[in-house]
Amino acid sequence: MSNIVTLFAALACCTALAQDKQLNIYSARHYPTDEALYSDFTKATGIKINRVDADDAGILARLKAEGSASPADVILLVDASRLWRAEVDGLFLPIKSKLLEDAIPANLHANHSDNGGVAWFGLSTRARVVVFDKLKYSKADLDSYEKLAEPKLKGQLCIRSGSHPYNLSLFGAMTEHLGAAKTEVWLKGLVDNMARSPKGGDTDQIKAVAAGECGVALTNTYYLARMMRSTNPADKAVTERIGVVFPNQSSWGTHVNIAGGAVAKNAKNVDNAVKFLEYLASPSAQNHFANGNNEWPAAKGVGFDNPALKAMTGGSFKSELIPISAVGMNQIKVQQMLDRVGFK
Ligand code: FE
Repeated sequence: MSNIVTLFAALACCTALAQDKQLNIYSARHYPTDEALYSDFTKATGIKINRVDADDAGILARLKAEGSASPADVILLVDASRLWRAEVDGLFLPIKSKLLEDAIPANLHANHSDNGGVAWFGLSTRARVVVFDKLKYSKADLDSYEKLAEPKLKGQLCIRSGSHPYNLSLFGAMTEHLGAAKTEVWLKGLVDNMARSPKGGDTDQIKAVAAGECGVALTNTYYLARMMRSTNPADKAVTERIGVVFPNQSSWGTHVNIAGGAVAKNAKNVDNAVKFLEYLASPSAQNHFANGNNEWPAAKGVGFDNPALKAMTGGSFKSELIPISAVGMNQIKVQQMLDRVGFK
């Protein structure tokens, strides 16, 4: 009898152990350079990572469909408005981690929930900047987001869909800075200045400027840095033709978005999930975001060495300091404004 009890105890131990060494991640980080991050974590902890890669919308739909049966432990998303949406939809388990709260500035994570936890943490940042055709403009012509709506840029602006989260977040930030009424007038100005109907991703906008199809465009910095570091002659030709401006350096600072992480509401491996997010906030993982995917570290005081980011900024730049959670919260208001001004 005692042998059977021992056997059951042993089985219970090892089933628990097997579960203890697993972590299921749903990731929308669409960057192959992240592979090293996952393997380094497994090497350091022995925790095996099972990963599902999908886009943000796909991940959120899958989590909702799976409900309490979802195997997801960690969710990685690449935009503040998407993280906010998932939080509001109740897809996250608030995290209590002193390490994460000490590492990540308060304006780059969700507000504290009723139980004192935090629904998501920004883990890296990216700026939304202006690129321009050097044959047509100089930096001084385009040194604020407001200037993109000036009538003298009529027919010159290339931009991806207004409803894409990268733009929703920028426009949500503008709503914080300018107020809704002025932001709507500004959005109408952007529509009036479009060179073509919104289409493509950020890289397509950069290429369209270099091809002379438009004079100015908006892009996230890592797409530009990727081209600057590319050895492909076509990419080199593109980056030689264009200039870049970090807007609003003399006012509230350039809009900065985040990629971030959260623990899934129905996570079975909560401790491992928190451990993984804490690892992503460590200096070595933060450095990886900077060097591998050309993002800025979100954690305080982490140094990095990325030649493209340095060349782009001249060393550093002033970023806006509004709470990134407010940017997400504004997206419904922003979508209504977009509909009213006819921004597709
Ligand atoms: Fe992206």
